[in-house]
Amino acid sequence: MPDPIYLDHAATTPVRPEVLDAMQPFFGPRFGNPSSLHRWGREARAALDEARERLAVTLGAHPDELCFTSCGTEADNMALIGVWRSRRESGRTAAVATPIEHKAVLGALHEVAHEGGEERLLRVSSCGVVDEASFDVLVNDSAAVCSVMWVNNEIGVVQDVHELAQRAHERGVIFHTDAVQAFGKVSIDAKATPFDLLSISGHKIGAPKGIGALFIRRGTPMSPLMFGGSQDRGRRPGTENVAMAVGLARAAELTVAEREEECRRLDALRERLETALLARIPDAVIHGRGAPRAPHVTSISVPGTDSESLLMALDLRGIACSAGSACQSGSITPSHVLSALGVPADVASAAIRMSLGSLTTDDAVARVAELFPALVEKARRMATA
Ligand code: PLP
Repeated sequence: MPDPIYLDHAATTPVRPEVLDAMQPFFGPRFGNPSSLHRWGREARAALDEARERLAVTLGAHPDELCFTSCGTEADNMALIGVWRSRRESGRTAAVATPIEHKAVLGALHEVAHEGGEERLLRVSSCGVVDEASFDVLVNDSAAVCSVMWVNNEIGVVQDVHELAQRAHERGVIFHTDAVQAFGKVSIDAKATPFDLLSISGHKIGAPKGIGALFIRRGTPMSPLMFGGSQDRGRRPGTENVAMAVGLARAAELTVAEREEECRRLDALRERLETALLARIPDAVIHGRGAPRAPHVTSISVPGTDSESLLMALDLRGIACSAGSACQSGSITPSHVLSALGVPADVASAAIRMSLGSLTTDDAVARVAELFPALVEKARRMATA
């Protein structure tokens, strides 16, 4: 059997050897607690500070604007709930987001509603681009915070974060962007783009699972979500995960250094894949294709098939993709992202997300382009038999 093909980089990526090397000493002799005053502690503190500085450089940020978190989900929760709680007394009681956000943001929005706030969802176009008219109506002087993801994890659509952040500021609204899928795919510079908060996650860029960071621009109001020690100036108490912070910083540096070349490579591979698939399956739908998209994601629906059976058929041939929908407790539910785009339920339930990355080669793309149409053909024959 030929080598398996991993086409699920938007779900997670392999840990880079350079990242593992950088982290290794902190699982061994450099085990100190950064809050301890003795030499072990000082050594750990120095490594943590250095990681923060190096990560800050990759984002155009000041080191004190970065808070290490346990994952992207925590960073999103902290941004939405932390800012909303700190502003609710001022009469700004609403939190706004797009309906195509990751559940990490949508879940935080529900929590705001649960705590007595108002949850507002923006409209998006059929390609997934934020509707400016609905932005202007909903992001108003009763809103505390607005969150718009930079790159969508299911269809790859890229939003105009610069423009949206500016508009939010005109109305006194704090602007957060979930950049978990954007880091390494678009140019991110806190000096050039006026977002107030930005989330990233390590395991999407070659660091391990269980580390993320939230950029919090100086002066942004923020209530902590956890209470206890005074780590990170009380913003996020708990003994810092030094090894993981070091790993995240290393992964971020490598990702940013390689960004332009890797994006060009992935863009060409994705284009080749989509062109080949559309040539052989002319009625296939590629979601968000009319909008600006990050180069690593393609979401394709073939009418008359269903994603669950196609995923299984692909898996049997060693090809790992995911559904364009959330897979919860083993059952595939229709994607909230595709529903928000107005995609009919039968088309949404056929969506397959292929996400490209470091493991994607020319050969892998050629094999998928060959095999996928054959599997589709078979699935359709079985459906009509
Ligand atoms: N936001 C986006 C856009 C994501 O794709 C993900 C992960 O899939 C997350 C947030 C959550 O990140 P984590 O898995 O680190 O909690």
